[in-house]
Amino acid sequence: MNTYFTRGLPLCRPKMLPDEWVETYLFRVARANGIRYPRLSDTESFRPKLAATALSKADGYPIWSATRLPRSSVVTRVNKIRYCPECMMQSRHIRSRWRLTAFDVCTIHHIRLKDDLAEPVMTKGYKQEGKYFVSSVTDEQLWAGAVCPMPSERRHVEKLWSGFERSIVENDIPGAFEQLTHILFLKALLDAVLTTTREFKAAQKSAAQSTELAQLVEKYHFSLAADFNGIRDFLDQITVTAHRDVVLNRLHRMLTDEMHRPTCFSELPIADLRSRLLTSLQRRAVLADEIPCPDHEESDGYVSLNKAASIIGCPSRLVKHLIDSGVCHGVRSSRLGLRRYLLLSSQAVEACGRWRASVATREQAMNELRIDRRGFLALLRAGLLRPIAVDVYKFFLRADLTDLCQRLGDVSRPFPSKAAHLHSLLGEWIPFGGCYRSASLEVLKEAFSGKFPIFRQMESSGLSAYFVDHTALERVRRLKTGEIAGHEQENCSSGQLSLLVE
Ligand SMILES: [Zn+2]
Repeated sequence: MNTYFTRGLPLCRPKMLPDEWVETYLFRVARANGIRYPRLSDTESFRPKLAATALSKADGYPIWSATRLPRSSVVTRVNKIRYCPECMMQSRHIRSRWRLTAFDVCTIHHIRLKDDLAEPVMTKGYKQEGKYFVSSVTDEQLWAGAVCPMPSERRHVEKLWSGFERSIVENDIPGAFEQLTHILFLKALLDAVLTTTREFKAAQKSAAQSTELAQLVEKYHFSLAADFNGIRDFLDQITVTAHRDVVLNRLHRMLTDEMHRPTCFSELPIADLRSRLLTSLQRRAVLADEIPCPDHEESDGYVSLNKAASIIGCPSRLVKHLIDSGVCHGVRSSRLGLRRYLLLSSQAVEACGRWRASVATREQAMNELRIDRRGFLALLRAGLLRPIAVDVYKFFLRADLTDLCQRLGDVSRPFPSKAAHLHSLLGEWIPFGGCYRSASLEVLKEAFSGKFPIFRQMESSGLSAYFVDHTALERVRRLKTGEIAGHEQENCSSGQLSLLVE
């Protein structure tokens, strides 16, 4: 390689194209700088020097966020280059999204990705027959052998992937990454379900992955949506016991894997989702097991546990835990054969009902506060919401929810006529991670004491009605600076102490 290029920035630095895959971009840079047949050593020397590629690694995994993707969802540099011929006609560059293993069909043009392109030196098997090179492929070669998916598969991939691909094309990368997390999560669960079907075992070598998934989804009428509600709905739709077992196992494995190597899946409440599936399983088992309580036992204003649960509107397992925790009194037990029954007095049912009405589930709390999952997590992490755990369930005191709204109502001021500079109270100024996270959570707590301006939009309700301005952001910055100073001081004094000890 010409040593001229190794010393500084390459002379020609072509602009990175939308969603361009870093690896083929580096080859484009090399060619623009007069290296006709670039080698890996050439591209590797450019990688750390260019702002657009400095954070990438030689493995060739696509990068849309600082958060990692699960390894099985992406392919490394040595895997085949795949592409949509029509996208390539529009711009001759390889897209990062084509490096996702589960992304089989372009949802813009509804064409199955082809894999007969190679970048010399990089992709394994580039000497195989029928391979064309990215830099010299003709239009005819791009289109040779291109196929569209069958209608059912097209519907399936559109439902799952089109929002993600649209966000990528519109350059909404955080939005695309969030959707991708949900898609990959759903895909992991669907893959688990797929292993239980006989058709899968017979067809796994012949059919494309997305074709099999489309068949599975159609067969069991799963309605899929690439968001958090879509995942919960999918779990609720699982009725086949074998499916439930493999999904529970998959979620369990996911929890262990994420502990060792956190990926975007850690953004999701995996344990909660697993409990949800497990609870629905146990509830159904209890209901299936139930035999009627003897009529005479139900007289005198006493009702069975299951009847009490249906009056209160919650799982009988929860009522049982409320009884055990002493929330209600007036419970007696009765036997029929080997079976033991719990019978609740009307006062006990009322007491449980009052307790249940005084708390909200996570979904109810989000709904009542008019906030999304992001806002909910911020409140939780700031300690402004404190969950109460009852067995596998988690609740929030309704009084706490009202108190939060009340406190903001007391300190807020009217919404200004020009609001372009305002940020939603639970908006993106509170990051999920990074060095500003704890400072921003601290400032969020301060918002409820009225330490800086809070604006209330009268036409909105719940916490979605409140906004902050630059003062909040400024406080985060100042707090963060203070933290660093404090930390440095601490380090300094501990250093002096250790010297004294010596
Ligand atoms: Zn396309």
